Amino acid sequence: MSPVRSCSRTACRQPAVFTLTYVYADSTAVLGPLATYVEPHCYDLCAEHAERLTAPRGWEVVRLPAEAGQPSADDLEALANAVREAAKPAPAQHAEPVGQGVEVGRRGHLRVLRSAQPEREQ
Ligand SMILES: [Zn+2]
Repeated sequence: MSPVRSCSRTACRQPAVFTLTYVYADSTAVLGPLATYVEPHCYDLCAEHAERLTAPRGWEVVRLPAEAGQPSADDLEALANAVREAAKPAPAQHAEPVGQGVEVGRRGHLRVLRSAQPEREQ
């Protein structure tokens, strides 16, 4: 796939900036920001052809904003992570280590632990 996609209209060499997706079930043509992947029923359009786009009879055209401020999937993911992070209870400050560690020494306030060997059945 070439990194720069061009308009899918015949004889148009303009770089594509929009992706038109036909949602047949809803008789809707969705014009949105250039899709990351080329999919069936998707047509890349340059700004000019996107502007001139008219829906087939009985169809609706939905135009999604395409400016740079549009949140990407990555941004939404980051936001979701931030919300999840904020929802977590704060970790206890002086929690003792949990597990099967065996104390083998101390260095300052740190305890040197090694994993306890599981007892083997003879
Ligand atoms: Zn075009």
